[in-house]
Amino acid sequence: MIFRQLFNWHHFFLLMAFFLIFSCQKESRITEAYVDDELSQLFDQFVQEGLQRGVIIDFVKTPVEGFLDSSLGASVTGQCQHDSNNPDRVLINRSYWNRVTELQKEFLVFHELGHCYLQRSHLDDKNDRGECMSIMHSSSSACENAYSLETRASYLDELFNSNR
Ligand SMILES: [Zn+2]
Repeated sequence: MIFRQLFNWHHFFLLMAFFLIFSCQKESRITEAYVDDELSQLFDQFVQEGLQRGVIIDFVKTPVEGFLDSSLGASVTGQCQHDSNNPDRVLINRSYWNRVTELQKEFLVFHELGHCYLQRSHLDDKNDRGECMSIMHSSSSACENAYSLETRASYLDELFNSNR
């Protein structure tokens, strides 16, 4: 009876050790670059959208930080800061973030990750109707932003596959 109890405890501790090791590994991966909780879902979505188009987005290998920022000027909705010594950094204007739709949030984060992760520059090409051809357009004054639930798939095709 005593032997049996010891045996069970032994297994229990072994199991706990495994959980501890696994949870530590998971944590260290996540903390390699800081991403605000409110942005992390869209960073994950960016990975998924890339994967669906055959593009591997590896934020462990090439980390990008993500911050909601209160110091950006009112006209700046978001920004990608390049830094040769540290991970590139996506800054999102917090007050803009707090008043726009989920789709506008997605557009903005994907645009900045287009700069920070995909190393894309601005592209202001437009179609016959004056609509932007790319999520990477420089501003809404350059062309009409037609990003919507209906058009997002083709915009994301362009975003991930433009260099192929
Ligand atoms: Zn831009």
